[in-house]
Amino acid sequence: MVSLNNKAVIPTRLELDSEFRFRCHPGCACFTRCCRNIEILLTPYDVVRMKRRLGMSSTDFLKKYTRYAEDEKTTHPLLYLRMDVEDDLYCPFVTPGQGEGKGCNIYSDRPAACRYYPVGQATHRIMDEKNEEPRHDEWYMIVKEGYCLGFQEDKKWTVAAWQKDQDSTLYDDMNREWKNIMMKQDLPKADKNREKRQQMFYMASYDLDTFRRYVLESRFLEMFEVPPATLEKIKENDIELMKFSIGHLKYLLGISRELKLKPHVAEAQRARIAEMRAQEDADREARIAEAKRAKLEK
Ligand code: SF4
Ligand code: SF4
Repeated sequence: MVSLNNKAVIPTRLELDSEFRFRCHPGCACFTRCCRNIEILLTPYDVVRMKRRLGMSSTDFLKKYTRYAEDEKTTHPLLYLRMDVEDDLYCPFVTPGQGEGKGCNIYSDRPAACRYYPVGQATHRIMDEKNEEPRHDEWYMIVKEGYCLGFQEDKKWTVAAWQKDQDSTLYDDMNREWKNIMMKQDLPKADKNREKRQQMFYMASYDLDTFRRYVLESRFLEMFEVPPATLEKIKENDIELMKFSIGHLKYLLGISRELKLKPHVAEAQRARIAEMRAQEDADREARIAEAKRAKLEK
């Protein structure tokens, strides 16, 4: 029911029709052992499902149940489920122990990583020969924790059957575009707007209730073209808002401009950029002229 521990990964590539043997049930001697002291990486759809299940705003959910980290390679904001330090590092949603009444208290809304376990997912971006759009190569692996007795059971699965049984394909569909964005390299750390962009990225990915207020109450609608039908949908519907946020994330990272600036804003932005470039050119010319003068005076 958990996330990926690299030491426990069996380094064999599995495809959808690959088979493995596994069964998890409340009678296992290890039941709920895997819901303690683990790293569970959350996706935007995980947060939507859990905050709705708990009847909380995304902001309150994030504060109470998650911890923030930064991806070392891309510097994108990552979100982990926070284990309960006052309860022996158990997941805040588990009732520990074996047998009926024990286990995950949010089972039908548990995160994708919990659904997939003991299967791990990997995605790799591959540039094709013409170096056009990258394609994503997805495969799977088994994560075999030493304490997990589920592998001693005799139930056989294919990866595809496991996905269906755990309802994880819905999560894959909901998270696919966002995961693709997460694989994109962020702008350099030296970028002066980086911190602001990180905050925006975090809000648009995970804190959808704040993102909704930002869209509806800031200058966002003065700046961007948002069709009235889309606007109506995102006012109430978290899933529509989550899909809309993907366009904003792509805009932030310069991946695409499917979210369009209004013509007068785009025009003003072009004029500002042209002015900046002209100033940079003038500064460069001045520096070259100064260097030439200094050389002649020597
Ligand atoms: S069988 Fe494995 S997945 Fe199931 S409760 Fe035990 S440790 Fe967790
Ligand atoms: S969310 Fe549920 S399944 Fe996942 S670690 Fe917590 S208790 Fe276990």
